[in-house]
Amino acid sequence: MRDLGEKNVLITGAASGIGRACARAFAGEGANLILADIDEEGLAEVGREIEAAGIKVVCVIADISSQEDVKALVGKAMGEMGGVDVLVNNAGICQVGAAEDLGIEDWERMIGVNLLGAIYLTHEILPEMIERGSGHIVNIASGAGLVGFPNMAPYCTTKFALVGLSEALGAELASHNIKVTVVCPGVINTPIIRKSEIRGFENLEDRISIVEKLGMSPEKAARIIIRGVKTKRPVVIITAPMKILAVLKRFFPGISVLLMRILARRMSLDRAKKS
Ligand code: NAD
Repeated sequence: MRDLGEKNVLITGAASGIGRACARAFAGEGANLILADIDEEGLAEVGREIEAAGIKVVCVIADISSQEDVKALVGKAMGEMGGVDVLVNNAGICQVGAAEDLGIEDWERMIGVNLLGAIYLTHEILPEMIERGSGHIVNIASGAGLVGFPNMAPYCTTKFALVGLSEALGAELASHNIKVTVVCPGVINTPIIRKSEIRGFENLEDRISIVEKLGMSPEKAARIIIRGVKTKRPVVIITAPMKILAVLKRFFPGISVLLMRILARRMSLDRAKKS
């Protein structure tokens, strides 16, 4: 989809970070937008900004982990825009903690938002894309969908699943002229870094500040995502360190395993110190 002008783009998690930057970037291409989020205030703010730029925009408060909310969201998108050309499954949450410190409800919450949310949206929108014979689904996974990071097991589980979902759908839907892109960002400097729930580790301020300094801006990430959509790339890996890690994992898996074990050991020492 080289020309995004007048295309209908639905973005979840559009109130903040990468979703908000994508909303601005797609608006810059002249696309019509359907923006969804649970953050009412943030969504209204980005909606006003985009509307003021003369772009057609519909904002819907929706919790994507609720199938009912997703049905209502897609119903509104179909009713007001007539269809969805590009679906950006972006909304997500993150949690850091040793597996033994997490309850089943932590796993369920993560799977509900990061994985089922994308599945519900795809399930609702796909029939219309197939009928039309065109469309593009963009799943914002993570570098944590390519490499298993310690103390992020639920997050990695959902992001690896999004990578598999995207690869399978990409193959299956090619004959319907529907493209699928999975995006695997490294660290992007967004509010998720401070919003993530951290279990069992304290005083991480120094590390969080370093991560924020090293992170790419969401605006730059959005530009890379748009380029990936226009050039119909099946996989988009963002940030140089993440690209290096992905290459290491692919061609030298032993080194990648060793690096993650070293990281796990350092983290478990920190955890032991705090407890
Ligand atoms: P963010 O916290 O800035 O934005 C996420 C948005 O999703 C928020 O506006 C939040 O309100 C919304 N959201 C959360 N739960 C929701 C729900 N149940 N229903 C609807 N909306 C919901 O985070 P971000 O960094 O912009 O993250 C966007 C995506 O990128 C996520 O899927 C995240 O996992 C992924 N990602 C981020 C990074 C990073 O370093 N920032 C790296 C890799 C992948």
